[in-house]
Amino acid sequence: MNNDCIFCKIANGEIPSKTIYEDADFRVILDLGPATKGHALILPKEHYANLFELPEDTAAAAMKVAKKLSAQMVENLGADGLNLVQNNGEVAGQTVKHFHLHLIPRYKDDGQNILWNPGKMSDEELEEIRKTIVGE
Ligand code: 5GP
Ligand code: ZN
Repeated sequence: MNNDCIFCKIANGEIPSKTIYEDADFRVILDLGPATKGHALILPKEHYANLFELPEDTAAAAMKVAKKLSAQMVENLGADGLNLVQNNGEVAGQTVKHFHLHLIPRYKDDGQNILWNPGKMSDEELEEIRKTIVGE
């Protein structure tokens, strides 16, 4: 646990939160500034700054929690869909440096826009990028 980290304090129950799920490794809370009704955050109880620091087992377990809660939220809130969002680094929009996975229920005409502007790339450029990523 990192004493300077607000999500460590929330995840470990030192600061109260609207908790919708808890187990030995995770707490899932309602976001204080929700994008939509039911916007929630999956927080590991251990401090990891981001996805790059997260152990594989914890990543897998977080996705299991996401799977279970997504269905429960969509069903009980009457949502029409749901976005999973996970930001790493300031440039990607991360503001709290404790790994968290956003569960954002979506409703028809909810006015949110969790999308991007599609770009354009040639086949050659895509091939160069593919090679860079796989290390060829
Ligand atoms: P990020 O931009 O880092 O991916 O997301 C941080 C999220 O945490 C934001 O959606 C913000 O509203 C939420 N948040 C920040 N501080 C608190 C807090 O103290 N309690 C809760 N429940 N949510 C918080
Ligand atoms: Zn933390």
